[in-house]
Amino acid sequence: MTKDWNRRTKLVHQGSRRSQYGEMAEAIFLTQGFAYDSAEQAEARFIKADEDEFIYARYGNPTTRMFEERIAAIEGTEDAFATASGMAAVNGALTSLLRAGDHVVSSRALFGSCLYILEEVLTRYGVKVTFVDGTDLDQWRAAVTPGTKAVFFESMSNPTLEIIDIEAVSKIAHAEGALVIVDNVFTTPVFSRAVDQGADVIVYSTTKHIDGQGRALGGVICGTTEFIRKTVEPYMKHTGGSMSPFTAWIMLNGMVTLDLRCRAMAEGAERIAAALEGHPKLSKVIYPGLASHPQADLAERQMGSGGTLVTFDIAAGKEAAFRFMNALEIAKISNNLGDAKTIATHPATTTHQRLPADQKEKLGITPGLIRLSVGLEDADDLIADLMQALDQA
Ligand SMILES: *Cc1c(COP(=O)(O)O)cnc(C)c1O
Repeated sequence: MTKDWNRRTKLVHQGSRRSQYGEMAEAIFLTQGFAYDSAEQAEARFIKADEDEFIYARYGNPTTRMFEERIAAIEGTEDAFATASGMAAVNGALTSLLRAGDHVVSSRALFGSCLYILEEVLTRYGVKVTFVDGTDLDQWRAAVTPGTKAVFFESMSNPTLEIIDIEAVSKIAHAEGALVIVDNVFTTPVFSRAVDQGADVIVYSTTKHIDGQGRALGGVICGTTEFIRKTVEPYMKHTGGSMSPFTAWIMLNGMVTLDLRCRAMAEGAERIAAALEGHPKLSKVIYPGLASHPQADLAERQMGSGGTLVTFDIAAGKEAAFRFMNALEIAKISNNLGDAKTIATHPATTTHQRLPADQKEKLGITPGLIRLSVGLEDADDLIADLMQALDQA
């Protein structure tokens, strides 16, 4: 019934359910359970719950369901399952699918907790994991074999903003019957075309752009009804990683402005990257929307945007990077991303601190590297702030 709506309309209306009061704003059903009219009704619902019937908030809740329907419509998947955090989504997508003896191929440049799940958790239960350089298609071709059950990667890597070609990797994976699971956080749902490009399962940390105001942890797994309801849901509902109704309400409200925010942030990021490029104190400015990015064509084809993050390297190293960060007046020093407030992160000493030196070098995490998550402030003000801070670096 809503199939013909464009994205902005879906972001405002899709999935809304109204009680008998006809409330305008989406209601928060802050309830763990639901009362039945009769013992017979309870029995029937445990046999099969209809679309609008709920049993227990860990299994599903009207507010959470509204969020799931809205994000599935945006991503273009049949269904979605909302989770307590982005990591509950990554863990849920992988652990619900895999069992001892299965083989997974994953890109190496991963968010630290994703790496932990693949390297420490899955292998503990007998899943075999092969890591590849995600940008090297030959390595994917060599690693994916007829027995490979799934491939996993972050479509844009953190913090060096390398793009992994979803379409090309999906072709390689599908030729061997492997499921393609993409962590699409850095791409954002607004710039995602992952389903069209071949991804089977898309996970988001909704903590980032979907909330967009740094208020709550959340996550979501998007996929076919078959995968979400037969594979993911039984695992999630019995292991306790479901999203709370209150969080779902925050995310529903974040969705309303998601398109506007991501586009404004990407516009700001593009202007900031252009202003920073060539600055004498910087050895490198990385932004997928700059012509100098080695994968600029792929970024344009895959996302139609350079995204909302800019990474740059202060040539003089750690002390200069710290002086720069401490001199910032608008941008905050923190480690979230996708927030309305611009955030500067020093990956080498925070998010990637625990990586051994050779790994940092391999991933391009140099002592002067700064990751900037561009917010919704005026781009001219941000550029002025970055320039005065660079003067002090
Ligand atoms: C933040 C993040 C996660 C984890 O999400 P949480 O909501 O913090 O659990 C996973 N993957 C990527 C790429 C992220 O940026």
